[in-house]
Formats: sequence, structure tokens, C-alpha cells
Amino acid sequence: MKTLGKVCCRSRVVLAALLLFVLVVPARAADSPIALKAARLFDGKSKSLITNAVVIVQANKIVDVGSNLTIPNDAKVIDLGDATLSPGFMDAHTHLTLDYTDFNKRRLEELDLNVSEHAIRATAFARATLEAGFTTVRDVGSRFVGSREFVDVALRNSINKGVVVGPRMLVATKGIGATGGHFDPTSGFRDFLFGREPDYTEGIVDSPEDVRKAVRFEVKNGADVIKAAVSGGVFSLADEVDTPQLTPAEMAALVDESHRLRKKVAVHCHGDRAAREAIEAGVDSIEHGSFMKPETLTLMKNKGTFLTPTLMATEWIMSKIDNYPPMLQAKAKAAATARTEMFRNAVKMGIKISFGTDAAVFPHGQNAKEFKLMVDLGMQPIDALKSATANDAELLGVAQKTGTLEKGKLADIVAMPGDPTADITATERVSFVMKEGKIIRNGPPAPQTAAATIVEEVREPAE
Ligand SMILES: [Zn+2]
Repeated sequence: MKTLGKVCCRSRVVLAALLLFVLVVPARAADSPIALKAARLFDGKSKSLITNAVVIVQANKIVDVGSNLTIPNDAKVIDLGDATLSPGFMDAHTHLTLDYTDFNKRRLEELDLNVSEHAIRATAFARATLEAGFTTVRDVGSRFVGSREFVDVALRNSINKGVVVGPRMLVATKGIGATGGHFDPTSGFRDFLFGREPDYTEGIVDSPEDVRKAVRFEVKNGADVIKAAVSGGVFSLADEVDTPQLTPAEMAALVDESHRLRKKVAVHCHGDRAAREAIEAGVDSIEHGSFMKPETLTLMKNKGTFLTPTLMATEWIMSKIDNYPPMLQAKAKAAATARTEMFRNAVKMGIKISFGTDAAVFPHGQNAKEFKLMVDLGMQPIDALKSATANDAELLGVAQKTGTLEKGKLADIVAMPGDPTADITATERVSFVMKEGKIIRNGPPAPQTAAATIVEEVREPAE
């Protein structure tokens, strides 16, 4: 018994040693810090870049950042050379589950494509977005006519669980809007083609009570943020682009119910009157805002409301204007003409501008083209960079954990060649992407796995 006891004891020691080896050794290797070096760094909030930049990353967090830092002995050094490090970009206005790059094709696909196939495509769009340097997105609406699926919630959860590669997502589920308004999924189709009129379960509301019910239903099903259409839009076939679509009483209910549940409110809005009423109701951001007059911008400034301009959406539509139905062409032209002056005024007046693109209207992964459009319309390059980092983090309510390169923040870091304050299009050539300490890419994506290729094929199948 004594001998047996000794053997047991010895094997226990061996087992314990083995366990220690298995548990400790790989963990130590994974925990060794990464030191990122680059010629320059934008920290997300400062007015200028710093040089000889070093960022030390441990596990999923930034543990140190600065100029000419001493690098720990056990650190893995990644020297990115003549590049600029920046917080991972954010896009406050995407639709990762949708593809509207060809309006007529999309309309047909609403009818004949299984929602599961839409969802599988969305995984490629998510990857393309992250590979382009966007580590966080606010995804403001996902709906499939006649379907009750919450594809955006499923995509967000799959990304969080590591099943799908993509940006951190804050999702809005179905956008809330009026019967016949911009978000009514049955508008423009034959009456009762889908068997019934949509209701609050699809975000369609016609009273303050309906609005509260829709907000509660969306939060119950996983919404992080509430989106509503308070004016008409370009891609809808039964409304005018700038008419108000929710009453002040409905907007008050929208903001009150959302804020009670600690959800921010983003509103799609082109028209000036609807924008004024929405800002007065206390929404957190105006999306698009094409026809807003200077007085409305002043109100926005006083209230601290964000403007999410989505210049890329208009740019894409105008570049392919002949492909859209005539009614949409007229709406797009009117909005495009108005938004140029509106945006210039907003910059001059110092309105809080968040970076948002409306990706889905143009191909996912091209989000960074928005930077140049902002700069072309009068924004300083450093302010455009700030809009996609610290500003978006503030609007999205994630500034405690990301949006700047600071000690203790999540290691969401990108690098782009050269100096983006000298050439803002450097943002379109991101060469390094890290999300929560994990390297997503370093150098160009391999052609066979490049999500951009997948996205291209999805849009234009080879015949
Ligand atoms: Zn949108």
C-alpha cells in the first residue's frame, strides 16, 4: 500500500507538472507583448501626429503608447516603417447585411434570394470591412421583406464569438418608420403582395404607442441602438425625399423610450423640417441631413447633436445615376446638390461630425473613400481622422474602451503608408489591421482570401 501510495503520489506530481506545462507555457507565449513601431502615430484626439511611434500591446489591450518608448525584452517587434499608426477606424453608418450597389438587382433579390444566402454573403462583407481597417461599425438597419429574421444580430453575435471575422458591431435591427415611408419594406410593391401590411415587428409604426412598442420589441431582440426614418429617402418608391415622416409626438416617444432603455437614437433624415423636429426631440445623430439649413445646424450645435454625413452614398449613386429608376434619379440629384452646401456649413460651424458612409449603397470595404470626400468639402485631414475615431467612439458610446490609442484601451490599431495628414487617401491603403490584440492582416490580403474579391464576385457574378 505504501509503494502504491508513493507511485500515486509521484504520478500526481508528474500530472501536476504536465498540467502546469500545458496551461502555463502556451499561455506565457501568447501573453508576450507585441511592440508596434512606425514613423508616425495619430492617437485619435490630438491635433497633430507624433513621430517615432511605439505602441505596446499585451493580450487584447494597449499597455503603453508614445514616442521612442523602451521596448520590453520579451516583446515581439513589428516594425511598420514609413507608416502611420491610428486607432482602428469606425463607421457609424453601415448595413453589413445588405447590398444595394445595384438597385434593380437588389429589388429582384428581395423576392428570390433566401435570407440565409443574404446572411452568408454578409460574412464576406464583414470581413472586407474589417480588412479595410474598420474595427467597429454601427450597423443601422437590416431588413428582408417578408422575413422576421434578425440577420444583423446573428452576424454581430457570430463575430463576438469568433465564428466570423468582422468588425465589432452595434446593431439597430429593423429601422423604425411610418406606413408608406422610407423604411416601409412593402412600398413600391403591389398592394398586399406580401399578404398583409407590415407592423411594429417590422419597425412600421403610426402612433407614439406603436413607436414605444417597436423600440421595446427591437431591444428585446438584440438592438444596441435605435434607428428611425424621420423623413423620406432616396431608395424608396412611395415618398418624397425631404417630407417629414414621423410626428413630433412620435419622435418624442422614440427618444424617450430609447433613452430609458439606454439606447442611442440615430435618425435617417434628409429634410430640413424633419431634422429640426428630430433635433428638438433629442436624437443623438442626424444621418445624411442633406437639406439642413444653417438655422437647423445652429440648433444642432447648441444641442450637441452629431451629423453623420454619408457622402460616399451620394457619390456612388451619382456615379451610376443612369442605373436607377427615374424617380430615384430626381431624388438623388436634389439631395446631392443640397448636401454639398450643408456639409461645408457644418464644418465651418464646428458641428460634431461623426464618420459614417452608408456602406451597402456602395461596395463594402470601400468605406475609407469617405475621408477624401470630407477633406474635399473643407474638413481638415486630422479632423476627418478624428471623426472616424474619437468622435465615432463618443457617438457610439464606446469611448471608454476604444477610439483612441491610450493605455488601457482595447488594441484596435491600423497602419497606413505615409502621412494621412499630407495625403488623406492613405486611409484607403491600410496595410495592417489589429482588432483586440489579434492581427487581422499585415501587408496586402492574400488574393485567394481577399474578401474584396468575394465582394466583387457577389456583385457581378462571372457569366
Ligand atoms: Zn443607411
